[in-house]
Amino acid sequence: MYDIPPSMKSNNKWDPDASTVKPGNNPDSSTILIVEDEVDLRDMIRESLEQAGYRTLDAGCVADARRLLEQHQPDLVLLDWMLPDTTGISWLRQIRRNGRFKNLPVIMLTARGEVSDRVTGLDSGADDYLVKPFSLNELQARIRTRLRQQDAPSEETSVEIGGILLDSGTHRVTVETDEVDVGPTEFRLLRHFMDHPDRVYSRSQLLDSVWGQQVFIEERTVDVHIRRLRKALEPVGKAGLIQTVRGAGYRFSTRGR
Ligand code: CA
Repeated sequence: MYDIPPSMKSNNKWDPDASTVKPGNNPDSSTILIVEDEVDLRDMIRESLEQAGYRTLDAGCVADARRLLEQHQPDLVLLDWMLPDTTGISWLRQIRRNGRFKNLPVIMLTARGEVSDRVTGLDSGADDYLVKPFSLNELQARIRTRLRQQDAPSEETSVEIGGILLDSGTHRVTVETDEVDVGPTEFRLLRHFMDHPDRVYSRSQLLDSVWGQQVFIEERTVDVHIRRLRKALEPVGKAGLIQTVRGAGYRFSTRGR
C-alpha cells in the first residue's frame, strides 16, 4: 500500500481529479506502460493518464512488464525502482542493451531521492526521474516533454538495424559493403521505419510522418514506395524486413512475421 503523506492529502496533490490536463489532448493516444508494484499509486497514475487521453498498460513486476513491452511496444515507460522480482534499474539496463528499445523513453519513479541514486538512474539509461511523492500534474508534464522529444526528428545521423546501415549525413544506405540504391522518398520511409522498429504504421500514419500532413497524396502511393523500397533491399537480402501487417499497414522488423 502506498502511504500517502497527510500533507499531500490536504492539498490534493495525489488526487487525479485535481489534474488540470484535459482529456483528449493527446491526439496520437500514446501508450504508456506503468510498472509499479504499489497498487494504489499505480491505479492513481493510470486513472490520471487515461483521463488525459493516453492508453495505458500496467504491471506490478518486471516479468509482466517485459511481456507487455514485447507485445505492445508502448511509447513510454514509467518505471518504479523497487519491484518485487528484479529492480527497475536492472531491467532498464537490459532494455537499453536491446537495440529495439534503445530509444524508448523511460521515466523512473522512486522513493529514493539521494543524489547518488539519481545519477545511477540516469547512468542506467533513464530519460527522467521523479521522486515520490510527486504531483500527477508534474508527471504528466514530464511525459508530454518526453513524447514531444520522441516525435522530433532523430538527432542521430546514422542508424543500424538488422545489418542495414542508414546514414542521413551522407544519405547512403549500406549493407556490409554493398550500397543500396534508394530514392529520396524511400530513404525517408526507411529512416522512419528504422527510427521506430517493430511498430506498425497505417498508410495514413506513414503519409503524415514521411510525406507531411499538408501534402495531399492518395494512400496507395504509400504502397508504391513500399514496393520500391523492398525492390531496392532485395539484392542485399533485406526486403523481408519491410513487412505487411494485414488490415493494419506496414512495419520494419528484424523478426519473422
Ligand atoms: Ca516499489
